[in-house]
Amino acid sequence: MKIAIVGAGIVGVTTAYELASDGHEVTVFEQRSAAAEEASFATAGLLAPHLLSPWAAPGFGHALRLIGPHATLRLSGGLSRANWAWLSRWRSATHASSAPAAALERLAQYSQSRLQTLVHRHELDFEASEGRLVLLRTEQERDLLQPALQVLRDSGVALREVTANVARQIEPGLSPEAPLAGAIHLPDARAGNCRLFAQLLRQGTQGSGVRFAFNTRIDRIGANPAGVVVQGEPDLRRFDAVVLCAGTASAALLPALGLRLPMAAVYGYSVSAPLRESTHAPQASVVDAAQQISITRLGQRVRIAGGAELAGADAEHHTATLQRLYRTLNDWFPGGAQLSSGVQVWRGARPLLPDGAPVVGASGVPGLWLNTGHGAGGWALACGTARAVADLIAQRAPEVPLDGLGMRRF
Ligand SMILES: Cc1cc2nc3c(=O)[nH]c(=O)nc-3n(C[C@H](O)[C@H](O)[C@H](O)COP(=O)(O)OP(=O)(O)OC[C@H]3O[C@@H](n4cnc5c(N)ncnc54)[C@H](O)[C@@H]3O)c2cc1C
Repeated sequence: MKIAIVGAGIVGVTTAYELASDGHEVTVFEQRSAAAEEASFATAGLLAPHLLSPWAAPGFGHALRLIGPHATLRLSGGLSRANWAWLSRWRSATHASSAPAAALERLAQYSQSRLQTLVHRHELDFEASEGRLVLLRTEQERDLLQPALQVLRDSGVALREVTANVARQIEPGLSPEAPLAGAIHLPDARAGNCRLFAQLLRQGTQGSGVRFAFNTRIDRIGANPAGVVVQGEPDLRRFDAVVLCAGTASAALLPALGLRLPMAAVYGYSVSAPLRESTHAPQASVVDAAQQISITRLGQRVRIAGGAELAGADAEHHTATLQRLYRTLNDWFPGGAQLSSGVQVWRGARPLLPDGAPVVGASGVPGLWLNTGHGAGGWALACGTARAVADLIAQRAPEVPLDGLGMRRF
């Protein structure tokens, strides 16, 4: 088939790879000049397990607090009606047991195994590390994590609750002065550089039937016949199928087709800094459960990521949030990173649906497939959802169940 993909973030690139592997002729339309320039640019780097990652799903990890110095979601400027509606749905999903947590975790595990297959096949070196600690400052934090731990245990994820001493043996760079009540150790957790992986995989698609059209914005998706309208062109370019992988921009392309996705752009930050002293830095990844901040070793750099705000795309960087990232790094790994020069500060948006899960599969409009809304887990889920969408297009049952992850739930 001749297939168009809208968007060359991590989701679009992995989808292009899988569709080309199935023998399709694929064109990826990307408005930016390279792959992974938007949400996939400087993620925290966390792969599976997913549920203990910040903002993975409503009701897991932390309470939703909107005001005060300990707000977990910052509301900036005037909130649109759509964002208010999103917030109220996220809040209700926090109390309901309907959030598709188990499905999400299953998908993350599947995605990890698919990623490993690609890594071995193409010998991709993407600054990967193995193992994660979820750091607990108090016993109360351990209690808050129990629902997520239960889902992980039920899903067969290896984990153990360890004392502060054991945690310090696993990550010897952890400050002896930091208040540490204990930690959750996830020995099989992975992390790595999402943007680097996307770029390497993109190179891996060369000669396999994928064409990347950069600096090419899609204004409209057509149905009956299926196709896309490129900005500045009068006519529809026809394809047998279109896969929408446009991240936070996906929702805006759907109303013209009579479809609506309740997606919010929840912004966060990452700071990447060169290693200063390797033994004082994390060897793999850690998550500060209370702060919902992660610190990840990526090759010769350390990346600190966190923060959540509902604000405009061009809002100023929020100084207090960035200071919190620096403070958290300093609490746990003082002296691990060099913060005086060569630091990259990034603000990006999580394309978040109100139950935390992506929408994967047929859209209901003939010829249009959806692979979007990966929220806080686009990197952790992309390889899995890409393979699943390719299977659905080939009219094969995906290897991972997608119950509860379709458009119908909205
Ligand atoms: C601070 C932070 C930390 C994060 N950490 C993690 C993590 O540790 N692990 C994890 O799994 N996830 C993490 N995420 C989430 C992750 O970044 C996203 O889920 C993921 O990048 C989404 O990928 P995507 O391909 O859907 O979107 P994007 O990467 O945004 O790609 C969409 C692409 O579509 C293009 N596009 C949009 N509209 C059009 C159009 N009309 N025409 C042509 N092109 C178009 C855009 O330019 C863009 O390149 C984090 C996010 C943030 C903000």
